[in-house]
Amino acid sequence: MARPTAHTRRIAIATAAAAVLTGGVAAAVFLGSDTSADGPGPALAHSSAKSHAPGRSDDKPGGRPSGPARPSGPGGDDSAPDGSDGSADATGAAGPPGSGGISETIDHATESGGKSVSITIDDGPSPVWTPKILAVLKQYGVKATFCMIGPQAKADPAMVKKVVADGHRLCDHTVSHDEAMNKKSVDYQSTEVLDAQKMIEDAAGGAKVQYFRAPGGAFTPDNRHIAAAHGMRPLGWNVDTKDWKQPGTATIVNTVKRELKNGPIVLFHDGGGSRGQTVAALKELLPWLAEEGYTFSFPAV
Ligand SMILES: [Zn+2]
Repeated sequence: MARPTAHTRRIAIATAAAAVLTGGVAAAVFLGSDTSADGPGPALAHSSAKSHAPGRSDDKPGGRPSGPARPSGPGGDDSAPDGSDGSADATGAAGPPGSGGISETIDHATESGGKSVSITIDDGPSPVWTPKILAVLKQYGVKATFCMIGPQAKADPAMVKKVVADGHRLCDHTVSHDEAMNKKSVDYQSTEVLDAQKMIEDAAGGAKVQYFRAPGGAFTPDNRHIAAAHGMRPLGWNVDTKDWKQPGTATIVNTVKRELKNGPIVLFHDGGGSRGQTVAALKELLPWLAEEGYTFSFPAV
């Protein structure tokens, strides 16, 4: 099930942006699928009143092998597979905090606990879709976490500042969205994580990036340690909407309703392709969640 399209498209964008902005950045090579891991993840480390099944939906391989780049037009498919958050990589329920006091274990809990959810939105910022998603979040008074790709943040600092001004939090989604980063050197992983952090924080003009989400769940002990040591909590997910596949608004909505039992962190995308279905799904889901008695909280840090 090769889905090179979206994937490579976003990467092409990111790489191009990086090249433009930095005068040349090594192009990411996207070989292999998301490998991170699998098997039952660690016990959820943080308290949430909700019952979380040990085998979460994100515990399966992402299985989105990337292939050769294929041009894709506007509205093309997305890119971000994120099929697995690699949580099997993290061992120990409550992991030792890094030097900055940030836990290195992959986060699957909300800050507030209780009957709450965290909306997380990956692969932006997008000049087209991020504003539409921000508008929906504002309409329903929901704060979310945006996992941004460094060069895209650097290319659109005003959008990053808008996200922050609206009260949302920032998450580092690396420089080149390399889902095989877990198979590469520690130096490479460090550069992917820390260069993106700097790009996003520079664009934000003061706000800190509080989380790190490995592309496709390609977490490793090294990249989790690097992130935590620099103030960023590794951020997993429990509900994968697979909105990047553009499965239809109703399917996205139903996926969330069905998988919420897995845990509170819900994964959407604002980058990588047409996100009209994501916007429409959020318009249904945010009021539904509120009616069902959920509150909205940031992921635990
Ligand atoms: Zn992603």
